Amino acid sequence: MGAPQASAAEQRNFPALLLQQLSAIKSAALNDDFAYREVTHLTENIGPRPSGSVQAHAAAEYVAAELRQIGLDVRLQPVTVPHWVRGAETAALVEYPGMVPGTTQKIVLTALGGSSSTPAEGLTGDVVVVNTFDELTALGRDKVTGKIVLFNELFDKQKAAAGMSFAAYGEAVRYRGAGAKAAADSGAVACLVRSVGNADYRLPHTGFSYPAGIPAGAVTAEDADLMAHLAAEGKVRMHLTLTPQKFPDETGYNVIADLKGSEHPEEIVVVSGHLDSWDLGTGAIDDGAGVVVAMETAEILQRLHLRPARTLRVIAWMDEETGGSGSKAYTAEFASDFAHHVAAIESDAGAAHPLGFDVKISPAAIEALRPVQSVLLSIGATVLQPSTYPPGADIAAMSDAGVPAFGIMQDGRTYFNYHHTAADTLDKIVPSELRENAAAMAVMAYALANMKDPLPR
Ligand SMILES: [Zn+2]
Repeated sequence: MGAPQASAAEQRNFPALLLQQLSAIKSAALNDDFAYREVTHLTENIGPRPSGSVQAHAAAEYVAAELRQIGLDVRLQPVTVPHWVRGAETAALVEYPGMVPGTTQKIVLTALGGSSSTPAEGLTGDVVVVNTFDELTALGRDKVTGKIVLFNELFDKQKAAAGMSFAAYGEAVRYRGAGAKAAADSGAVACLVRSVGNADYRLPHTGFSYPAGIPAGAVTAEDADLMAHLAAEGKVRMHLTLTPQKFPDETGYNVIADLKGSEHPEEIVVVSGHLDSWDLGTGAIDDGAGVVVAMETAEILQRLHLRPARTLRVIAWMDEETGGSGSKAYTAEFASDFAHHVAAIESDAGAAHPLGFDVKISPAAIEALRPVQSVLLSIGATVLQPSTYPPGADIAAMSDAGVPAFGIMQDGRTYFNYHHTAADTLDKIVPSELRENAAAMAVMAYALANMKDPLPR
């Protein structure tokens, strides 16, 4: 049996010249270290880039300058961002069944973003371990008031090992986001959650927690187990010191850089990642990698002298991690133009081998993109997995407004080993896999920009 015959629509949308250009873009990406050099600078020279920090500011200026250098039309869009800075973070069990007199047990933890502070000298309280919100409610205020609540929801490692790490994350992360508020509503003086991640190296994973007016931290999975075991035997008391500070809001920036379309400059294809990171690591896989593969899409087109028919817009989003103010600012300015946003791509699931894309697009659009799957077959990035939710936090508003949305689907089996930890560093990016991601994004973006008809909605 020969190759399936291209339909008339495919021949119209993807003439031979476009297919040749897409192959050339793929080859260029697989032989280019531009993205790796850029992510090296972002992570090692600039470093952690939390919203409101001077590094986040420097990163926006750096990315803007690099994109100007490539020849794009660049602007910095001001965004009001929170500014929260980590302080001391220590904890120890000071009373527990079987304790050897005169000793304590160290608990390894980190403050969650947005956490309030304990007094400088810390606070001491009994630890109440619950697995779920329902268990907390069932205890009632009397048993929680004045205590430190630990939500011990397990991250499902089997799901992660089977390639469904984002499902596992979605299940567990509810407690990181909303646990502190629930604990505070029940009278707790502090809230701890079991870290949302699947490694076994006693690493705490930070992340956003809705401000609840009480200190909120994430303990390592190992320390959550320890406290759960001891609390099942009897009373456990903890001394906890978390002294982060919340400063007045700052001005941060989305970087918005256009490569003008030659035929339909008013129609826009977005390629993007988020520039802010957590503070513990250097934001390599979350999400320096996403920013640099978006940058490389433009770099390759310029180097190959390929002018997109529609405008290619590179966006490095600010403040994905602590409230999404970058995405909100973009929506506030451009919502009336979303009808002309033909598609939006975000990479925010790491830098590992791409399997394809999570997509929130119509069945007709999936069908129309069959030729792109053929181009990406040699690197395995062929999946177009329909998603019921927007496949990227920063492009969610566009997606909800009907803009066809794509998220690069990376092999996520190890992503949550490092996510939001001190170990999210450059060495976690495999250069050859980053090149595959750059190829996937560039090929898809150029296809969306140059297929004859805009992708059906
Ligand atoms: Zn991210």
